[in-house]
Amino acid sequence: MGNFDLLKVKGVSRRDFMKLIAATTAALGLPELIVPQAANAVEKALNKPPVMWLEGMDCTGCTESALATLNPSPAELILDMLSIRYHETVMAGSGHKAEEAYQDTLKEKFILVVEGSTPGTAKDDSFCMIGGRPFRKILIEAAQKAQAIIAIGSCACEGAGIPGACESGAIGVAELLRNEGIKTPVINLPCCPVKPATLIGTILYYLTYQKVPPLDSQGRPVVFYGSLLHDNCPRRGHFENGDFLTDWNDPIQKEYCLILKGCKGPKTYTDCAQVWWNDNANYCINAGSPCSGCSEKDFYAGFSPLYAKQEMFKLPGIGQVDADTVGVVIGGAAAVGLGVHLIATAASGRLSKKDHKEDM
Ligand code: SF4
Repeated sequence: MGNFDLLKVKGVSRRDFMKLIAATTAALGLPELIVPQAANAVEKALNKPPVMWLEGMDCTGCTESALATLNPSPAELILDMLSIRYHETVMAGSGHKAEEAYQDTLKEKFILVVEGSTPGTAKDDSFCMIGGRPFRKILIEAAQKAQAIIAIGSCACEGAGIPGACESGAIGVAELLRNEGIKTPVINLPCCPVKPATLIGTILYYLTYQKVPPLDSQGRPVVFYGSLLHDNCPRRGHFENGDFLTDWNDPIQKEYCLILKGCKGPKTYTDCAQVWWNDNANYCINAGSPCSGCSEKDFYAGFSPLYAKQEMFKLPGIGQVDADTVGVVIGGAAAVGLGVHLIATAASGRLSKKDHKEDM
């Protein structure tokens, strides 16, 4: 069966397919010129490469997130066609059949997707065993043979999340592979959970260019994690005006800036304001919840408590701002810009205006 015959079976016309590729490349910020090239790469990949999806210590939220899409969807079109050969949570086979699928995939040129953190050393292996084998060893074995490795969700990226908060010795995929001397670069796609569009876009980029996308210092694709959430937030106008939500029950404050309720938007790099979850149904701030900073390295421990004001907003005269801390946390010119911006905002009285004299 030809590649477009496969698409037809899925009820996808050539026109729809090209529209999808154009939309995906546009979402990636890639020039229109590469649409034919991207379509060609995806066409070639319709039968392969296979994807092996390993799941370590996690809540299965990233799998849930990937599956929470409508039909037909980019997730189905690309991931299904890519052939996920092994996925413990959703695969029909179990026992020896599942093991067979794993071994068969190892023999191919596959993309490894990893969800969940891993015990860092043999002493903690008992926290995550799969089919009687330590997950840590399975991950090392698969990573040694994979053509590309993508860590999805905060647990897999940094060993953060719930397992990381326990005494499980949890670490991220990149750290484990570094410790084991495995050189294949790990593409980190954090967030709790990852957005399907981020995973699909990353795979599409890899297929098109046959190389990992430009990454930032945390191993995240710049195209998805290169801008500050605060800069694109729909509540930013209220931030500028000094309209800060202090009372959840006051309907007038419903759309106000959430910074006094612990919003981490000013130190979180993500495209959440533009690309949402569940087929673009919603995201945290739009649902009325402060950003918890789940795309950042220090999530969860470094960002808790989630619903409390952050130290970085304490300013002299109003409270305290440690500009150096702001700079270290955010880094680079953006940090300086943000620090200056926050100080200017506070100095103008806007930050304190609606703070009801709370101690900042
Ligand atoms: Fe939006 Fe949070 Fe920034 Fe307020 S602090 S403008 S809610 S990102």
